[in-house]
Amino acid sequence: MKQNNNGVNVIGIPRAISYYNNYPFYFGFFKGLGLEVLISDRTTTKLINEGSNYVVSDTCLPIKVFVGHVINLLEKGCNTIFIPSLQSTAYKVNNCTKIRGLPEIIRNVINKPFKMIEPTLDKTNNISFKDFCYDTAHQLDIFDENKIEIAIQYGWSIYNNFQQMALAEIPFEEALKNAIENKIVSKPIEVVKPLSVVIMAHGYNLFDERISMNLIKKLEKMGVKAYTGLNVSKQNAINSIQELGEIQYWANELDLTGAAAYYMLNNKVDGIIALSAFGCGPDSLMVDEIQYHASEKGFPMIHLTIDEHTGEAGFVTRIEAFIDMLIRRKRKKLKNNNIKILPSSKKEQITKKEDKTVSFV
Ligand code: SF4
Repeated sequence: MKQNNNGVNVIGIPRAISYYNNYPFYFGFFKGLGLEVLISDRTTTKLINEGSNYVVSDTCLPIKVFVGHVINLLEKGCNTIFIPSLQSTAYKVNNCTKIRGLPEIIRNVINKPFKMIEPTLDKTNNISFKDFCYDTAHQLDIFDENKIEIAIQYGWSIYNNFQQMALAEIPFEEALKNAIENKIVSKPIEVVKPLSVVIMAHGYNLFDERISMNLIKKLEKMGVKAYTGLNVSKQNAINSIQELGEIQYWANELDLTGAAAYYMLNNKVDGIIALSAFGCGPDSLMVDEIQYHASEKGFPMIHLTIDEHTGEAGFVTRIEAFIDMLIRRKRKKLKNNNIKILPSSKKEQITKKEDKTVSFV
């Protein structure tokens, strides 16, 4: 196993797929086991192209990106890489076949010598999260139960700090950075934006800024507040799916159907943006489900699909058109409710609830 300058063993974690849901836990757990964690670089076009060269062309973009990140770690000299098989995350709550079979995909497409740490999580078949952690430690030749238990606790403490900040609407990168530094920061006071949307998307599509083409920041620049699945508690997401009369089947369903349902049912946003990878089976079902309920309720929604060829100009045009439509819709609504609208030339967008005055760019 590769060691750092201080003789500490190094484990590599690809910055893709479950990194975006579980990295705070992974980081704390591996630190607790006495390892140094090496993450792959941020996604670039070169990294995507590299990953794409190893798999058949109709593989979805996030898997191509994952392969690119494994190659990136190997290029850094890392020879032990964590690639879990996340089968089901709760009873009968499943991941897609590609995420379930990730170790097999990597074994079959990357013909280079390295050790894969490949524990299985499968709650449907009684392989619990604790089993998953023990399996990981054992594959690293760590058998000290006390050490493993302490590492699990440390993993959860970092994860809980991250979640607390995410629920308080701290942006993903900031929450992650503070959590792994063992800090909790509170949300700064922000100007209330006159428009808001919820983005239903997998974390690995949305928070990877190359894949999402910086969607959240683009919306912020347009004066639109973007909520995500990270801002909704697990219970609220589950309750909202049930309220729609649907069931949770997919592992990432809470970030997609759950988040969209919660904000739509509680009328907390002006519209829904669905962001998904071209050719993704689970997303096509979840997006269809929400599209059905949104159109029933007359709730605006747009579906953006992405692959490695998606051009930024067309992507931005679609977002701008959607936001323009939301602005017109809201203006009309406010007018009907006799709420004064400031001139559109006024750039500063402030909502003052007391005097019911709203301005759009
Ligand atoms: S859920 Fe969809 S986008 Fe994600 S890995 Fe599976 S097929 Fe690809």
